Amino acid sequence: MTATLDLSKFQATGVETCFHDRHIGAQIYADLNGSNWRLKDYEARGGYAALRKILKADGGEGLTQDQVIAEVKGSGLRGRGGAGFPTGLKWSFMPRQFPGQKYLVCNSDEGEPGTCKDRDILMFNPHIVIEGMIIAAYAMGITVGYNYIHGEIFEVYERFEAALDEARAAGLLGDNILGSGFSFQLHAHHGFGAYICGEETALLESLEGKKGQPRFKPPFPASFGLYGKPTTINNTETFAAVPWIIRNGAQPYLEIGKPNNGGTKIFSVSGDVERPGNYEIPLGTPFAKLLELAGGVRKGRQLKAVIPGGSSSPVLPAEVMMQCTMDYDSIAKAGSMLGSGAVIVMDDSRCMVKSLLRLSYFYAHESCGQCTPCREGTGWMFRVVERIANGLGRAEDIDLLNSVADNIQGRTICALGDAAAMPVRAMIKHYKHEFVHLIEHKTALVAA
Ligand code: SF4
Repeated sequence: MTATLDLSKFQATGVETCFHDRHIGAQIYADLNGSNWRLKDYEARGGYAALRKILKADGGEGLTQDQVIAEVKGSGLRGRGGAGFPTGLKWSFMPRQFPGQKYLVCNSDEGEPGTCKDRDILMFNPHIVIEGMIIAAYAMGITVGYNYIHGEIFEVYERFEAALDEARAAGLLGDNILGSGFSFQLHAHHGFGAYICGEETALLESLEGKKGQPRFKPPFPASFGLYGKPTTINNTETFAAVPWIIRNGAQPYLEIGKPNNGGTKIFSVSGDVERPGNYEIPLGTPFAKLLELAGGVRKGRQLKAVIPGGSSSPVLPAEVMMQCTMDYDSIAKAGSMLGSGAVIVMDDSRCMVKSLLRLSYFYAHESCGQCTPCREGTGWMFRVVERIANGLGRAEDIDLLNSVADNIQGRTICALGDAAAMPVRAMIKHYKHEFVHLIEHKTALVAA
C-alpha cells in the first residue's frame, strides 16, 4: 500500500520502532513482514545495537543505570497499555538497592475489545520487546523477568518462546550477557484469556498461579509486586519503543510526537472503515489523517461516532473527534481517553443502544466478582440496556443507568468498574435521544 498521508517529519527521522504493517503510513516499514522476525533479520535492521550501546562489552560505550533512565524519562515515553503513565518515572520508582529479588514483567495480556497491536508486535518483531526488556532490567538492576501473554493467542506465545531461544543462544539473554557481567533471565508465560488479567495486579496473581483477581492498592507493585517483591510492569508496546530511544536519543523521539506525548503509537483501527488494521503514527497526528490512512469511512457513509481508546473509553461524536489529534492530552480534553489506542469507528448506520448492549454485556461477563458495585452493577446496567433494546424500557431507566454508573465509578478495587461505567454515561450523554426513542415507542431492536 502506498500511503497518502504526509508524514515527512516522521519519515525523516527514520524511526523503526516495533512493527510490520502493510498499513503503516511510512514505507520504512515495508521490509517487515511475517517471515523476517528472526534474530538475524532483527539485527540486520539495527536490532540489539541499543543493548550493545548500554553494556560495557562487545565494543559498547556503556551507560549507567541513571543515564538509561534519564534517556527514557527525557523521551516523553508514556505507557502504551492504557494508563499513559510516564515510563521513565515508573522505572525510577524501582528501589535499586533492594537486597532481594526484583522482577520485571511485560503485560502482553491484550484483551481490550478493539485492541490487537501487542500480538502483532510479538508475532512480527518479538526481539524488539526482548531487547527493550533487557535494557529495562539493566536500568533497574533486575535479573528475572516474565512476559505474560494473552492465553487465546497461543501461536504468539510460541513465537516469543522461539525468539527467546535465539536470544539465549546468541548470548544476548541469560547469564553474563555479551560478557558484560550483567545477567537477566526472561521467561514467557501464557494466561487463559481473562480480560481482568490485563489489570496489573490481577496479572501478578495469575502469574503466581492464583485466581487472577486485582489486589487492593496500595501497596503498589513497585514495592510489593510479584511474590511480594518490587516489580515493574510495562506494556509490550512500551518496551518495544525503548531500543529506538536508546539508540537515537531522547530528544529525537520526543520530537516525533508533541510535548508530553513523545514518539509514535500504534492504533488498532476497527469498525466501519475501508482498511481496518494497525497503524503506527506519531502521537499528535490529527484523527482525520488516521481515518484517511484507514481508507475513510466504509462505503462512503458518514462518520457518526468514535470510541478512541478501546471499549472502556467514552464514545465521542464525529464532530468532536474530527477536531482531535491522536495523543493523550487532546483526547482527554475532548472527554475521553487514548487508552490502548483501539480506535473503533462507527458510521451513521450504527445504533448506539445496540452498541452499548454489547459493551455492557462484555463488562458484566468479565467482572471478576470481587467487589459488590462492579459485580452487581455491571449486571444491572446490562439488564437495563437489554430491557430498553427489547422495547420494554421504562421512562426512569435512563436516570437509573446513570445512577448505577455513578455508584460504580470510583468505588471499586480496580479500574474495570470505571471501564464499565464510563461507556454508559457517554452513550447517554451524546445519544440519549436513541434510548428515549426506543422507550417511548416501545420498539425492540431488530437482531443483527
Ligand atoms: Fe473485580 Fe470488578 Fe472489583 Fe475489578 S472492579 S476487582 S473486576 S469486581
